[in-house]
Amino acid sequence: DHDKVVLDGDDMRRTLVRIAHEIVERNDGAGGADLAIVGIHRRGAILARRIHGLLVDLLEHDLPIGDLDIAFYRDDVGRRAEQPTVHASHVDFPIDGLTVVLVDDVLFTGRTVRSAIEALFDYGRPARVQLAVLADRGHRELPIRPDYVGKNLPTSRAERVNVRVEELDDVDEVRIAAL
Ligand code: 5GP
Ligand code: MG
Repeated sequence: DHDKVVLDGDDMRRTLVRIAHEIVERNDGAGGADLAIVGIHRRGAILARRIHGLLVDLLEHDLPIGDLDIAFYRDDVGRRAEQPTVHASHVDFPIDGLTVVLVDDVLFTGRTVRSAIEALFDYGRPARVQLAVLADRGHRELPIRPDYVGKNLPTSRAERVNVRVEELDDVDEVRIAAL
């Protein structure tokens, strides 16, 4: 029985700054001119907005930003069905030829990201898709790995990673909690 803070507010800020720098380094060939950021639903989209702000400061030009709302259908015992589905999306720019960085808070089985990649390709043909996550908790069920990781958090399936962000929760922190 535990509930421990693994990232506090300062850790989170430093982590997002590092990820923004890594995104610039990895994509510096084009000066970052062909980058776009797409966040995945609630907290991934909020983290995406923060990373986007940091990138705009670093690159000194604007970049397109969008979000995808991907939800799981759950059965009555709360188990995940096979397919997460796209609820709503706001990708109001042409993605053809862009390097799209998907951003999510927690990476688990990889099914949400798979669904996000599929949804992106409904909008066009990005040059490449990269993945940034604040926390990778393991337990992958698909061959998906993040390009940018805030923190690797080995967890058991009986644990949950609680991500809190100031915009919604009045505090920035990541905790591991027993379910
Ligand atoms: P996956 O599709 O990889 O199984 O799960 C990732 C998605 O579910 C992400 O959008 C993430 O927000 C959410 N998720 C899965 N496990 C956790 C967790 O332990 N904590 C939080 N905060 N979100 C999780
Ligand atoms: Mg999520």
